[in-house]
Amino acid sequence: MRTAEIKRRFLAHFERNDHTVVPSAPLPAVDDPNLLFVPAGMVPFVPYFRGQLPAPYKRAASVQKCIRTPDIEEVGKTSRHATFFQMNGNFSFGDYFKDRAIPLAWELVTNPVGKGGYGLDPERIWATVYLDDDESIEIWRQTGVPLERIVRRGVKDNFWSMGIPGPCGPCSELYLDRGPEYGREGGPEVDEDRYLEFWNLVFMQYERGPGGAKEDYPILGELPAKNIDTGMGLERMATLLQGVDNLYEIDEVKPVLDRAAELSGKVYGAHSGHAASESHPDDVRLRVIADHVRAGLMIISEGVTPSNEGRGYVLRRILRRAIRSMRLLGWTGPVLPELLPVARDCMSPSYPEVAADYERISSYAYGEEEAFLATLRQGTTILDQAIASAKSAGVSTLSGDKAFQLHDTYGFPIDLTLEIAAEQGLDVDQAGFRQLMTEQRTRAKADAQARKTGHADLSGYRSALEQGGKVEFTGYHEVARDSKVRTLLSATGTPITGAGEGDEVELVLDTTPFYAEGGGQQPDQGLIRVGDGEFEVFDVQQVLPGLIVHRGRVRRGEIEPGRDAYAEIDVNRRRAISRAHTATHLVHQTMRNFLGESATQAGSLNAPGRLRFDFNTPSAPSPSVLHDVEQQVNEVLTSDLEVHAFITSQAEARRLGATALFGEKYGDEVRVVEVGDYARELCGGTHAARSGQLGLVKILHESSIGSGVRRVEALVGIDAFSYLAREHLLVSRLAELYRVPAEQVADRVEHTVAALRDAEKELEKLRAQLVLGNAAGLAAAARDVHGVAFVGTEAPEGTSANDVRTLAQEIRGKIAADRPAVVAVAGRAGGKASLVVAVNPAARSRGVSASDLVKGALSGRGGGSAELAQGGGVPAGEAPSLLGAIERALAS
Ligand code: ATP
Ligand code: MG
Repeated sequence: MRTAEIKRRFLAHFERNDHTVVPSAPLPAVDDPNLLFVPAGMVPFVPYFRGQLPAPYKRAASVQKCIRTPDIEEVGKTSRHATFFQMNGNFSFGDYFKDRAIPLAWELVTNPVGKGGYGLDPERIWATVYLDDDESIEIWRQTGVPLERIVRRGVKDNFWSMGIPGPCGPCSELYLDRGPEYGREGGPEVDEDRYLEFWNLVFMQYERGPGGAKEDYPILGELPAKNIDTGMGLERMATLLQGVDNLYEIDEVKPVLDRAAELSGKVYGAHSGHAASESHPDDVRLRVIADHVRAGLMIISEGVTPSNEGRGYVLRRILRRAIRSMRLLGWTGPVLPELLPVARDCMSPSYPEVAADYERISSYAYGEEEAFLATLRQGTTILDQAIASAKSAGVSTLSGDKAFQLHDTYGFPIDLTLEIAAEQGLDVDQAGFRQLMTEQRTRAKADAQARKTGHADLSGYRSALEQGGKVEFTGYHEVARDSKVRTLLSATGTPITGAGEGDEVELVLDTTPFYAEGGGQQPDQGLIRVGDGEFEVFDVQQVLPGLIVHRGRVRRGEIEPGRDAYAEIDVNRRRAISRAHTATHLVHQTMRNFLGESATQAGSLNAPGRLRFDFNTPSAPSPSVLHDVEQQVNEVLTSDLEVHAFITSQAEARRLGATALFGEKYGDEVRVVEVGDYARELCGGTHAARSGQLGLVKILHESSIGSGVRRVEALVGIDAFSYLAREHLLVSRLAELYRVPAEQVADRVEHTVAALRDAEKELEKLRAQLVLGNAAGLAAAARDVHGVAFVGTEAPEGTSANDVRTLAQEIRGKIAADRPAVVAVAGRAGGKASLVVAVNPAARSRGVSASDLVKGALSGRGGGSAELAQGGGVPAGEAPSLLGAIERALAS
């Protein structure tokens, strides 16, 4: 049975049983800052389960697009873990419970195919239940599962909670025994590959309290209204119904795998058994490739683009892993242009948008492949250099430092470093590498924690919010107002009863004209007066939704909660920020005018007098486009359009064509900001009153900040003017210095630079001649050491490594060929000493070897041939002693 049919039957079964079919929520988890992607079907229904919102229906069913990032590591190694998968679920909100949920699942899976079911053999189905859930055991028994195929399991496997106070309860999972060729007998506890879990039924029965560890929290009692949440893995059911060994072989995935095998010339399955544990590494790779290409397709189709952070990073990792795996299989041609269209054709019957939007999706995917290949090229060059210098220094291990630098700075994967180093006969200090990785991870974690809110404990803020409800923001229409101090908190977020001069604290008002940082707009600053006291506001943050917190310092007097306050923002700063924000809207709209609708905003910063605007585009816009954008924006300024904001319904905003940010969550009521008829965008920020107030917009530069995302920076108003005035002054000064008109300055500079470069080259040549001109004199002064003519000399400080070597060879050439000769030249550059030894054939036939001499003088660090060898890396002061060491070696 095809996957699309399994999905259709699922929804039809539950619709027949009075469930409302609800479409999948977006794959990126937009409502939960702790999640990157939705990991389960129940996520969109959480507010109903937690009782935060009344459920609009009593029963629902859905097929939710899911990604579980921790499962990525399992892909291909087990039979059952995909990166992207679809979870079919049925849900009851205080309606039916276990006694109905179990038979509903049973009917669907065991009903014959001819009667709309999946036709699984009831004799091969196993159920697990929570330890003491006798109720479920009884229902299973009555439904048709004998006691010997019902297994009791503990908290870890069969008790569910969201990790926070709220609903929790036992679960019951359904498994199918796939037979002895997949593993050992004994039920799910013995072998989760042979016994494949396909459905989990969660019974939200109890209310749990707070608690630290995952399995350690108090159960407060039974829930008044009990809920059902189930998840049936669509790909897992397809695996069972299509009679294949694993979920990478189902209709939605296998064609990609086949194409990958064809390209790389592998015969999939030739060396593997049925069980996942009997897989050949090449087959595991092919599964990873097929899974990751499909997941990449689905993630990009949901508006995520490759980057170095968050969701974009997950996407980047899986795309790169797919490309890399193909190379490991021996395919060096383009990967995604070959495989992505196959994944598209597999997925478009269920998700037509992946075909409709394929041009955009593929441009990001192919762009990412190019970026990765560039990284590989760059990394390989750096690695080759590191290997060469390790070799010439006679070391056999590449440092952990180098491996980490390659990974961290150039995004060069460690497995590749290991592989290339091994080909060259070098080890890599892996322990050192891992140590540096751990250090970096710890640093990043601490940073992220500190960035989030500044504090881990939010209880002080929660009670401030509960005390007086949401803080009203009045700053769209006024810059100052009378208010009241609701709560005072310490800099670490603990409520306090008073603060005095010099204290850095946080203050919550009942209403405020201060804009909290958000939507890319920087916060307001200003002053809050409380009686005689003055509080200087540096920063304003919305710590919890609806709770605006002013951060700053008491400049004078005392401040206590409950007192009247007068809040006044820094008007000049606000105006400069508002102008920048309006300018951002204009730049956004103009970019879209020139680059097309897909040039959507990916991020922005609106600061006083300056803006940064990040946007999605597969390739860099040409300088002439940027020039045109700048020109058009400035033309809009001269038209002096009115900026107008209004609240309306989301549907109406959409009808008006207002631009909304991809993946951003908006309520039913939205605020629309329009600049005349030119730009219309959903926005909560503050703006100039008319476009004319912006004065001037100057785009400074444009650059790439990751594949597919570009950034422009611009100045607005007086800051733009000052910048241009400064540039003008600079050009005038250069013109004066060169004594040419301004328009000739660039030519002049170019000319001067070229002349300087020629002069430097000439100088270098002369220096080399000077050094080498000495060769004959030095050769004539050779001393006899045990019948060998020996020259030991230092090259002038700063002589290039090349010239040091040439000098040694020149001197050697000036000594009569029948006389055994050894020439040692030491050089000093950059604080280090180097040594070159040249030996002529007559000395060679006496058994003298240049590379032995160098290694002897430098305790093994160096190498080369018996005629010419070099080494170095010791402090410059040791140069004379290196020469001495050579002479001593000859004497002995
Ligand atoms: P497993 O132990 O096999 O990883 P799980 O206990 O993590 O499964 P649940 O959290 O109960 O799974 O999720 C409900 C259902 O979703 C599972 O029964 C399975 O059918 C499906 N599922 C879970 N993870 C994946 C995945 N990575 N790929 C495909 N399907 C999955
Ligand atoms: Mg799991």
